[in-house]
Amino acid sequence: MPMTHTDNAAWNARDLAVLWHPCTQMHDHGDGVAANHAIPLLPIRSAQGAWLTDMDGKRHLDAVSSWWTCLFGHRDPRLVAALERQLHELDHVLLAGFGHAPAIELAEALLRVAPPGLAKVFYADNGSAAVEVALKMAFHFHRNQGDGRRTKFIALHGGYHGETLGALAMTDIPLYRKTYAPLLLEPLLAPSPDAYLGEAGQSPQDCARRVAEGLREVLERHGDEVCALIVEPLVQCAGGMRMHHPTYLTEARKLCDAHGVLLICDEIAVGFGRTGTLFACEQAGISPDLMLLSKGLTGGMLPLSAVLTTQRIYDAFYADYAASKAFLHSHSYTGNPLACAVAREVLRTFASEPIIERNRVTSATMARLAAPLAEHPHVAQVRQTGMILAIEMAADARTRTPWPAQERRGLRAYRHALARGVLLRPLGDVLYWMPPYCVDEDELHLLAQVSAEAIDAASA
Ligand code: PMP
Repeated sequence: MPMTHTDNAAWNARDLAVLWHPCTQMHDHGDGVAANHAIPLLPIRSAQGAWLTDMDGKRHLDAVSSWWTCLFGHRDPRLVAALERQLHELDHVLLAGFGHAPAIELAEALLRVAPPGLAKVFYADNGSAAVEVALKMAFHFHRNQGDGRRTKFIALHGGYHGETLGALAMTDIPLYRKTYAPLLLEPLLAPSPDAYLGEAGQSPQDCARRVAEGLREVLERHGDEVCALIVEPLVQCAGGMRMHHPTYLTEARKLCDAHGVLLICDEIAVGFGRTGTLFACEQAGISPDLMLLSKGLTGGMLPLSAVLTTQRIYDAFYADYAASKAFLHSHSYTGNPLACAVAREVLRTFASEPIIERNRVTSATMARLAAPLAEHPHVAQVRQTGMILAIEMAADARTRTPWPAQERRGLRAYRHALARGVLLRPLGDVLYWMPPYCVDEDELHLLAQVSAEAIDAASA
């Protein structure tokens, strides 16, 4: 008997028997959990555009682009066709000692649109792996230059870079990091440029300048021990969609240069048009030494990541084999042809369609529809950078006092939205919209309506 028409409950029973879900206390899905903490588990049968359909046939608007991956909507016809074409040519081949058209053409296309100075592409297969590559490459670069003292990294308060040990070490979110602290590298932490933390009356740009002084202090004290600074340009996403002015990045670039420190821009979440430009660091007019891409790179279809770097860094590894300067890092699926072919189609789509211009109209609609939410007594701020809009809920909006974390207010919002057919997955008490770019005005109206209800549900 085909299994495709089994209902949600039957699939969930099978799911819970065998699966361990990511970023989840499985007890929340189990029997006997307090009703106000229970989280429904949703088996998804299919997806199209901005919508997911569950096993019972109910549709859910994917307002978070499935963890920020799904750029143009699910099963975008161009990407599906690119994947089908590639399937008939080459499925996979190791990338050590071998090359293939999708990897080469994708690298060419990425370097054509990347900030100036980026000249080489190193592939991996997920965001955290790209962070690991960048950290090792930055350290090894200095070492190959004869500078073995540079063993430290600077990361930002509130930053997030993934869950593998190196990436988690650069992450400053206690919920994910604390347990593993004894295992982790300890970065030097510089203040977050988050404009929400700015003093009253301070503009986001003034806040960025002031916070850059904090980075200057860290560099003045430790600059000659530091390999690299790692930042999420414009939006610290997992940390609560915390947004900053591009001036911070311009200042950070200058400070890194002054201290011989490499700048790693983690554009894994913000790349590919999310912030209003193809890459977020463009808004600061800077080029990083290492730029990390994943998520939207394949439009959410397949896992892939890329580390873009400069000729200077590449050259520091280029030597006779006996000099032991090679970067001997690999993952089995590095540069997988299917994923590269889809990613190449993502870049073709950006080249042939006015995606960024259309997003400008969509983000203006998002701003207009979200504006009334700012009046809610439990909304401390509505903030937006391009196609990311965040609603900061609080116990007291005026004093910006948060609810106690154990109340899990965001979860109430999540559950309410899910019941209404909208996938909104708050980060703590920050509700956010990060929809696929195909989202239309009717869908945004639904999103705004359900968000208003979800904020009521969270604050009731
Ligand atoms: N960096 C940033 C900025 C991210 O948002 C994420 C994932 N949310 C990662 C790195 C890690 O990527 P992945 O989940 O693919 O390992």
